[in-house]
Amino acid sequence: MITVSPGARITSSAQPDWRQLWRDAVTDSRELLDLLDLGHLADRLPAADAGFALRVPRGFVARMRKGDANDPLLLQVLPQLLELEQVPGFVMDAVGDLASREAQGVLHKYQGRALLIASGSCAINCRYCFRRHFPYGDEMAAAGQWRQALEHVRQDKSINELILSGGDPLALATSKLEELSHGLAGLPHITRLRIHTRLPVVLPERIDAPFIEWLRSLPLQKVVVLHANHANEFDEAVDGACASLRDAGATLLNQSVLLRGVNDDASSLTALSERMFAAGVLPYYLHQLDRVQGAAHFEVSDDRAHGLVEAMRGCLPGYLVPKLVREVGGDPSKRPL
Ligand SMILES: *Cc1c(COP(=O)(O)O)cnc(C)c1O
Ligand code: SF4
Repeated sequence: MITVSPGARITSSAQPDWRQLWRDAVTDSRELLDLLDLGHLADRLPAADAGFALRVPRGFVARMRKGDANDPLLLQVLPQLLELEQVPGFVMDAVGDLASREAQGVLHKYQGRALLIASGSCAINCRYCFRRHFPYGDEMAAAGQWRQALEHVRQDKSINELILSGGDPLALATSKLEELSHGLAGLPHITRLRIHTRLPVVLPERIDAPFIEWLRSLPLQKVVVLHANHANEFDEAVDGACASLRDAGATLLNQSVLLRGVNDDASSLTALSERMFAAGVLPYYLHQLDRVQGAAHFEVSDDRAHGLVEAMRGCLPGYLVPKLVREVGGDPSKRPL
């Protein structure tokens, strides 16, 4: 639709550019609270951000409930005083990433799959993020420099699936992704490309026409693993992004993190599975929290986690029940609980 207002230039209500929306994200806790009519809570904010700033796209803020300090989307992004507590067992490198590094930006932990740290940036900063302390500056595979990573993958013919992760790999410009796919053209043992991304959920505008064209053109099997933790994270724009991804030939899965106060009840988890399936997405993993410093207040006990998944099994078809797992450094796979 084209709208023309008197004296103004012609503007199109087609999707705004995702980079602009990325830059426009809310980065100030007080502003976020004001937008949600929660300004009176500002004195409960930590004075410092514990080295991990607030960042949340405005479209995601629009899905939060106004006036609700316990909104499940808000709790995922708002810095809290609790983060500053040192809790024994909650450490900087919670999943042994640094031990599994095989080349710059390449993590190779599991048979057949190599994971590339394709970007250190995310459109959103999730407070529970297991990589909040990751030394991205040293470890980026990409920023357009795929050479070392591709060389590693070329030499190891046991790898058939390349996983783009981060940070968020779709933080990269589509032209950078094209450079990667050109590099992959000479590696016939790579048959699958998997993308781990939260962007279709938190900034669905990223799934624009050039990106979809790129994805569709890949002569590989394509899997996109989304990351949503609550049914309220889905809206029409997210549905549209998911539909485009499926049209481009991608299988859509979702991984969630079990988070105290956000989704640690059977009805939230059930609603999440139902809602994602309505968007054409199947649940994959439900992760027990990685024990990363500053995230202890989100932890749910294994016993409770078990009970929640059993409750889901009691009211959902089997394909809508995610696998409950924990990542343990040194294990040959994610560990089922
Ligand atoms: C989680 C992870 C994978 C993918 O594991 P799947 O069980 O296949 O989803 C691959 N490599 C690394 C380093 C990982 O952390
Ligand atoms: S999108 Fe993923 S990698 Fe980025 S901050 Fe959130 S949990 Fe961490």
